[in-house]
Amino acid sequence: MTGTESIEIVEVGPRDGLQNEPGWVDIDTKVGLVEVLADCGFRRIEVGSFVNPTRVPQMAGTAEVFKRITRRTDTAYSALVPNLRGLEGALAAQVDEIAVFASATEGFSGANLGVSIARSLEVLSEVTREASDTDLPVRGYVSCVLECPYDGPTQPDAVVNVTKQLLGFGCREISLGDTIGRGHPDDVRRLFDRLLKDVDPRRLAGHFHDTGGRALRNIGAALEYGVAVFDSSIGGLGGCPFAPGSAGNVATEDVCDMFQRRGCSTGLDRDAIVRAARYVKDLRAAAGGG
Ligand code: MG
Repeated sequence: MTGTESIEIVEVGPRDGLQNEPGWVDIDTKVGLVEVLADCGFRRIEVGSFVNPTRVPQMAGTAEVFKRITRRTDTAYSALVPNLRGLEGALAAQVDEIAVFASATEGFSGANLGVSIARSLEVLSEVTREASDTDLPVRGYVSCVLECPYDGPTQPDAVVNVTKQLLGFGCREISLGDTIGRGHPDDVRRLFDRLLKDVDPRRLAGHFHDTGGRALRNIGAALEYGVAVFDSSIGGLGGCPFAPGSAGNVATEDVCDMFQRRGCSTGLDRDAIVRAARYVKDLRAAAGGG
């Protein structure tokens, strides 16, 4: 029962992917990656983030990448922003959309952001309000929606709580992340059975990781609930930071093929996707990886 025939895939490789790859990627390579992705026809590409470069060195130079990419009118180029300083950087770079992030669990919030969920939401409410004042669309990420590396299985109520707050701040869409990729389709169904009592599925996106090899099945489960936006990363860029060497972000080409098999339209150019995946493969080979 998929009521959804038209799917949007949000490409997060240049940000969520590269951020979790070991080693430095130069600006030319990043610009090249964004350009080959733009050729594929994505409506949204997450280009980078305006975070402290001493904490996340892979994301240094995001402003420069924005300066150098050729902007297409039919593509929105977005960036992740953790605070008001990041928002300043994003506005100066004339990004088309920003993303903010919070955790559904206290353990991950404390470990990843260094603050409680409540404190992180205070900051995000300011960022979202300021962005809305300038008509900049804001996407919210919620991590650990199925399971947390510190707190174990996540209660659906916790996800509903954070999701509703972010929507209340003015986020247009909430992307729900199975950050450690250990969720099962039944967990996805339990989450959406609860979420859809309070939230319109058209405001939701799925961000699944393939660490447990179940990302495609989990996407299929979310699809049953009318979710029509899914995040993925070209070439599966971005391993799982909690399980070195194992898969993280689900690969765009795999998601694309799955939707094609199901008769869903993504509007993406399959040949261009293959070229972009090859670009990532060459990148890995040049870095000495597999
Ligand atoms: Mg991810």
